[in-house]
Amino acid sequence: MSERKLKLLHMYPDVLDLYGDSGNVEVLKYRCKMRGIELEVSKHQMNRPDSADFSDMDIIYLGGGADYEQQLLAEDLMGCKDRIKAAYDSGVFLLMICGGYQLLGQYYKDSNGERIPGLGLFDYHTEASTNKRDRCIGNIVVETSLLGKPYRVIGFENHGGQTTGVKTPFGKVLCGNGNVRSGETEGYCEERVIATYLHGPLLSKNPSLADYVISKALERKGLDSTLCEINDSLEKACRKELFSRLLTVKASK
Ligand code: GLN
Repeated sequence: MSERKLKLLHMYPDVLDLYGDSGNVEVLKYRCKMRGIELEVSKHQMNRPDSADFSDMDIIYLGGGADYEQQLLAEDLMGCKDRIKAAYDSGVFLLMICGGYQLLGQYYKDSNGERIPGLGLFDYHTEASTNKRDRCIGNIVVETSLLGKPYRVIGFENHGGQTTGVKTPFGKVLCGNGNVRSGETEGYCEERVIATYLHGPLLSKNPSLADYVISKALERKGLDSTLCEINDSLEKACRKELFSRLLTVKASK
């Protein structure tokens, strides 16, 4: 059996790391290691020339960031546009959280009314109110489908941006806001794209989602994508507790 090895490009790890979003990379590393899969992590940092071949990656990851950080990195990100597009076209898995999610769409108009151009990979766009208190903040539960099976994704959202024009959302909101205030849907997805407002970090609270990313990346590479069970009893207990707290209160949605 061929050796299973994956490569991940972590973009702007020092700038896009709201609410411990870099923890998502740690979760992927851990869950790969438990299956004997090597996950090699490279970084792309602002204003630093890098030799990373984006198309040679299996996963590209962007975390979330405040408006200020998004402005800071916008130009550098635009300089990566062709390489990210080529990677996306070749089926590299794109995982993006909140600020990263917004910047791969058409544009983000921030809470100062400044328009940050997006990479335009996807059709959606995002606008924030100039009233800086007008934000969607709190725990959120979303129902998505992973390999044909329903899966409830839990996280924490804190965004002023309201994202519209999403053709294929990541999931249905069971509690919280989602793409827009009191929205019905959350995030954006394709088979190998997940863009979501959920921090948490996302993957520590949703181990099956981490495994989905890993197995899709393995499958694309023609490697065995089966993943043995690992002991998720703590994660399962935590999820059960959070669902009982959050979903019973807002059962009417
Ligand atoms: N600055 C963006 C907003 O407020 C993204 C925030 C985030 O990544 N949590 O909508």
